[in-house]
Amino acid sequence: MSNELKVRFWGVRGSYPTPGARTVKYGGNTASVEVRAGERTIILDAGTGIIPLGRELAGRRVFEVVLLFSHLHHDHTQGFPFFVPAYLPNARLHIFGPGGTSETLGHVLEQNQSSETFPVSLREMASAKDIHSVPESQVIIWDEAGIRLAESTVSPSDEAVVIRIHKSYAHPGGVYVYRITWHGKSIVYATDTEGYIGTDRKLVQFAKNADVLIHDAQYLEEHYRGQLAGFPSTQGYGHSTVTMACEVASASEAGQLILFHHDPAYSDEMVAGLEASAKAQFGKAQAAYEGLEIVLPDEKRIAGVLQSPSAPPLSRGQRAQWK
Ligand SMILES: [Zn+2]
Ligand SMILES: [Zn+2]
Repeated sequence: MSNELKVRFWGVRGSYPTPGARTVKYGGNTASVEVRAGERTIILDAGTGIIPLGRELAGRRVFEVVLLFSHLHHDHTQGFPFFVPAYLPNARLHIFGPGGTSETLGHVLEQNQSSETFPVSLREMASAKDIHSVPESQVIIWDEAGIRLAESTVSPSDEAVVIRIHKSYAHPGGVYVYRITWHGKSIVYATDTEGYIGTDRKLVQFAKNADVLIHDAQYLEEHYRGQLAGFPSTQGYGHSTVTMACEVASASEAGQLILFHHDPAYSDEMVAGLEASAKAQFGKAQAAYEGLEIVLPDEKRIAGVLQSPSAPPLSRGQRAQWK
């Protein structure tokens, strides 16, 4: 059994999918990120990137997943009707997202597949689906006993995957930022958020010392300010500039920063320019691309192995193996 925390990017584009020759390097699918904590699979958002992920999960025979929605804008939900595991009778989907009542998230997903807009309704998809609108005061825990909600004051065991929520208002309608922690390693997913002058302090506090910070960085500075020819100002749209993302990464002392939610109008060259600008401001920064994988080794286990003369060392293959 793997003891690594892994992140794999399946969709990194914001707003709408952008196939074509100008987006080959970073990819054109909308937001979807896979996190694997040992044998447990957690999916962040269901943009079109979740479609190829679903095919792979079905092939890998992964039939139980947690799916977290940051919010319910199209670019974060539009892949769900094509998510293969949702059609498998032996699959169980634990779906969490923002909403005031237990009906809200499920209702929006049902509406996305109304008979007017899609041929298969949510109910007709054969998988078992537990759909929870979850308040930010609760945490999602996945341990030996299963998957459940708990109050944020609980102290789960070290074996538990713990998912905490921060509700941000820096996006129209609000957005959930998630922090996934396992074996002392943390990944923070902060998409669809706009920075503030002097940084978003609540977000910085929530993201403190994360090993990986995935942060919205949709815009070049000139674009945001309306100084880029052909691109109107985007202040107030609910997305960040590269500098805003780097400021949060610096202030929260993140291990690495992954720029996310690329503007659909940006070519590969423009995203590469955005990435270069980020590296100049925060050394461990890179732009997300489809297929990017990050592996966070379990340091406790490695320390244990190093202390034990009888245990074999981890091979490169064990460290690098994704499947
Ligand atoms: Zn979005
Ligand atoms: Zn949005």
